[in-house]
Amino acid sequence: MSRRRAVLAEMGLAPVWRLRKENAPQQDAVAQAQPALDWIPLKALVSGCTACGLHKTRTQTVFGVGDPDADWMLIGEAPGAEEDRLGDPFVGQAGKLLDNMLAAIDLHRSRNVYIANVLKCRPPGNRNPEPEEVAKCSPHLLRQIELVKPRLIVAMGRFAAQTLLNTDASIASLRGRVHRYAGVPLIVTYHPAYLLRNLPDKSKAWADLVFARKTLAEL
Ligand code: SF4
Repeated sequence: MSRRRAVLAEMGLAPVWRLRKENAPQQDAVAQAQPALDWIPLKALVSGCTACGLHKTRTQTVFGVGDPDADWMLIGEAPGAEEDRLGDPFVGQAGKLLDNMLAAIDLHRSRNVYIANVLKCRPPGNRNPEPEEVAKCSPHLLRQIELVKPRLIVAMGRFAAQTLLNTDASIASLRGRVHRYAGVPLIVTYHPAYLLRNLPDKSKAWADLVFARKTLAEL
């Protein structure tokens, strides 16, 4: 048994895919749509995906980036214009801010964290994703989580938090607590693009990362 699986078993989280009841339909979608694909075939599947209408307007899919064996997994909403152009999540000014905040707790996307979005294609004009688009794309994300087997998920921004936790609750009410998604502890914080527009909230986001680090250390 791997160290990570042993830890999850010790925490009473094995098997990893013990989903909350409300996520069960997503698990079914994984079982139906993506039978245990490994990284390369999964990435190929996503890059050619036409399951929802967003494939018509994308430049390219934005699969995810980082250490495929990371303890930390960060999940945002959907690609923006720069991500759509470059093919990587969290680039541009928001990406730089995120990288700087991660570096302050010794995390780096090339070394010990994996970063992905709920949606792999950019919604036109950066509109909010539609529920059907989320439903169609969720199997991709779920399979990524299954492959990474993170010990902790950080949901970045209101949309990602509300989608992963299946709630309409505000981000303020979701912060500072340990939730669960797909059997994995999950912490909510602000999206770095939001922080660029609301600089006073950077201190809250920093507090969230410190809380996440403390939570992970105590697992
Ligand atoms: Fe497929 Fe997801 Fe892109 Fe829709 S958003 S086309 S489901 S990869």
